[in-house]
Amino acid sequence: MGKVFIKSQREIELMKESCRIVAEVLALVGSRIKPGAYTRDLDEIAERYIRSRGATPAFKGYGTDKRNLFPGTLCVSIEDEVVHGIPNGRQLQEGQVISVDVGVKKDGYYGDGARTFAVGRVSEERMRLLRVTEESLYKGIEQAQEGKRLHDVSHAVQTHVEAAGFSVVRDLVGHGIGKSLHEEPAIPNYGAPGTGIKLKEGMVLAIEPMVNAGSARVSVGNDGWTVRTWDGKPSAHFEHTVVVRKGDAEILTR
Ligand code: MG
Repeated sequence: MGKVFIKSQREIELMKESCRIVAEVLALVGSRIKPGAYTRDLDEIAERYIRSRGATPAFKGYGTDKRNLFPGTLCVSIEDEVVHGIPNGRQLQEGQVISVDVGVKKDGYYGDGARTFAVGRVSEERMRLLRVTEESLYKGIEQAQEGKRLHDVSHAVQTHVEAAGFSVVRDLVGHGIGKSLHEEPAIPNYGAPGTGIKLKEGMVLAIEPMVNAGSARVSVGNDGWTVRTWDGKPSAHFEHTVVVRKGDAEILTR
């Protein structure tokens, strides 16, 4: 494993600004989510807002395959789409859930956050999926303290999700974040307590449970990006960028 960076207070101040913009984008996009909305319009609103703040969208142009870089500012993942859905001409429909993930870079530092929204009225099972996934994120964050181990975070997420009868996606993980969007350590949403690296004050982590209503199994679509549940059941995704502290972690994307 590579190096896990400890950020200085100056770096954390810079990340606070990127993360504040992430939170603002999610609130702005959330206010536009309703039946009939086009995901491409949500993406344009997000990009315009980020650039108006003197920042750049971190996901746009991201990728290792130069012929298929991610085209959007947002990842918009509807219903059985887990993550990395591409904004396009699709219209949202009443009863769906949509996960919105956004990364922002400002003054050399990244912020990353995600949230799943209900489109109009959704089923009780979908509401429960959203609630449990968000709760699991906070259970993980509670463990992100100096002296704990990385997989204490993972285990707290997994335990909460599985007690509710849902499953955590294993093929995708959270990550450290800073001068790069994805840094060490990888943060799985499952694992044994008391294992993994020791957490230290000043580590900055993007914790992001991806939770499926049914099986944990996922597959990547023909577009090379969109991750879907294998069984077609809905999925949810909540993410915060947090700073490990001696006591409670500091949530930067609130
Ligand atoms: Mg992330």
